[in-house]
Amino acid sequence: MKHHFDVVVIGGGHAGTEAAAAAARMGATTALVTLREADLGVMSCNPAIGGLGKGHLVREIDALDGIMGVAADQAGIQFRLLNRRKGPAVQGPRAQADRTLYRAAIQSAIRGQKAVDVVQGEVVDLIQAGDRVEGVQLADGTVLRAREVILTSGTFLRGVIHIGNERRNGGRMGDKPSIRLAERIDDFGLPLGRLKTGTPPRLDGKTIDWSKLGEQPGDDDPVMFSFLSGKPVARQISCGITATTAATHDIIRQNLDRSAMYGGHIEGVGPRYCPSIEDKVTRFADKESHQIFLEPEGLDDDTIYPNGISTSMPVDVQKAYVRTIPGLEAVQIRQPGYAIEYDYVDPRALDRTLAVRSLRGLFLAGQINGTTGYEEAAAQGLVAGLNAARRAQGREPAFFERTESYIGVMVDDLTTRGVAEPYRMFTSRAEFRLSLRADNADQRLTPKGIALGCVSEARRRAFGRKLEKLETAREMLQQGTFTPNQLQSIGVNVNSDGVRRTAYQLLSFPDVSFDDVRMLDEAFAEIEPDTATQIAKEAIYANYLARQQRDVDLLKKDEAVAIPSGFSYDALPSLSNELKGKLSRTRPESIAQAARIEGMTPAALALIVARLRQDE
Ligand code: FAD
Repeated sequence: MKHHFDVVVIGGGHAGTEAAAAAARMGATTALVTLREADLGVMSCNPAIGGLGKGHLVREIDALDGIMGVAADQAGIQFRLLNRRKGPAVQGPRAQADRTLYRAAIQSAIRGQKAVDVVQGEVVDLIQAGDRVEGVQLADGTVLRAREVILTSGTFLRGVIHIGNERRNGGRMGDKPSIRLAERIDDFGLPLGRLKTGTPPRLDGKTIDWSKLGEQPGDDDPVMFSFLSGKPVARQISCGITATTAATHDIIRQNLDRSAMYGGHIEGVGPRYCPSIEDKVTRFADKESHQIFLEPEGLDDDTIYPNGISTSMPVDVQKAYVRTIPGLEAVQIRQPGYAIEYDYVDPRALDRTLAVRSLRGLFLAGQINGTTGYEEAAAQGLVAGLNAARRAQGREPAFFERTESYIGVMVDDLTTRGVAEPYRMFTSRAEFRLSLRADNADQRLTPKGIALGCVSEARRRAFGRKLEKLETAREMLQQGTFTPNQLQSIGVNVNSDGVRRTAYQLLSFPDVSFDDVRMLDEAFAEIEPDTATQIAKEAIYANYLARQQRDVDLLKKDEAVAIPSGFSYDALPSLSNELKGKLSRTRPESIAQAARIEGMTPAALALIVARLRQDE
């Protein structure tokens, strides 16, 4: 076994596997240390990848040649494009995954990376020399030396599982927590907080009366995650739909004091956007029913994940209330729902590469940074993995900007604003969402990935071919112009204003399809369907994008005004003490980042800019 690596990654969850794969693609020798090798790629909660905002992240990971999108495509047993009827900017690909197939796909992707050594073991200590982390120590005494270490221990740091008033230490159901590592992290003086999340009971599918339930099939034309995937490989299935009843709500209300979350047993803050059933019944008291999706956990597994009823009620209450739900009258619970409370590190302690500012050689990624969700974890793993490898190789950092990616939005949100509750991605978090679409993630990020050196030759070639086709088609559609008469003759509703329009401009009309446009010129028949679909999506936003580009340029100008890491806010007498404190804690790296700190004012920004000019 090797004992010296460029990068050591602690944790083989979604952040850890993506981090290790990214570091290896960059040519760094990498050790991936995890408690159980067989658990690489385990989904702790729902067996699904993607969704609104989250699907965008998966596409971006894929554009940079990451592993999550390909694994989700290989394991997907139901694909749905969410918000299909809305504009492409807010559409999010989602797939129900077979847990076993997903784990197998992640494990095969990791084994396919020759530069990664998987090491099974518990990391109990970080080796420190001065203000630098230089490796890790395992519980059996093994020491692994590394130029850079990435910690991705998820919910395991001082994890406590709650079911009613019963509490036990655990990283997730069936796993021990990382207590020794958490104690070691205390020594580093990192700002720690407590968060919580919950999961529903798992049900025995054989005891569900499916004949009573609504059915939710997947899409007829599945949209895959990876830009390199064709069609689903696994058999496709439907999910069931049911809902809570007045009787369900009565039982929950009567037992609220026995819920871990409501009985005062948990101090951590939970995800507002992923509420427990106790939360829903209390916060939306006038709602008579809440929808539940019954999601199969796999093709050869009849365990069912009831999406929508995560809980920390005692087991007897869980048993009673699930049986008040139509179709579940005789259901058996295979594993009770539970809440988990865990330590997280305030991500404002990190820079934009996800490196700890106060300690060299240490990166943090995933749920440990206060996020929730596989996709958020994987995207951070990618950022940390790329940057750890680059730093180990003595190369410049790789930054992701808000203007180019959801990854950039998330890293910026975390490192400048911190988290008040578990952070999850939404399309509304991205101010430039018209250009940051899931469909164009490759055009936004694959060139960057090629420049960084993390994209394989096969993807580079496939992307080059796609880009060529898009450019040829765009040119073709923008060349000739057509009179209103010509357009009216093919049924397009335009004013007789004498204005000639290109076929490309026409595609931004709400009621014009690419098939209409094909009637204008025989040459357009050469444009392949995939290229046509992509062009039609970008053309919808062409007018808005020109306007948005001006905002992007302004923000980029502000991003370019760097604030040195040692900048003294105390030396600005007119700055309020509150802002001085916030700026000193957050240490923004640019004026744009400073502007996003809560409570920041234009006057305060002007003071900082003026001082920066003086110091030039
Ligand atoms: P994890 O996937 O937890 O991986 C951590 C890894 O670190 C594990 O492989 C573990 O073995 C390893 N590890 C830990 N300590 C050590 C150590 N000392 N040495 C070596 N290895 C170590 N997300 C949602 O989006 N929606 C939800 O509703 C939701 N509910 C959840 C409910 C529960 C109960 C849990 C546990 C998680 C839930 N999640 C939910 C979150 C989702 O599972 C996580 O966000 C995601 O898995 C985080 O990925 P990660 O890589 O950061 O951590």
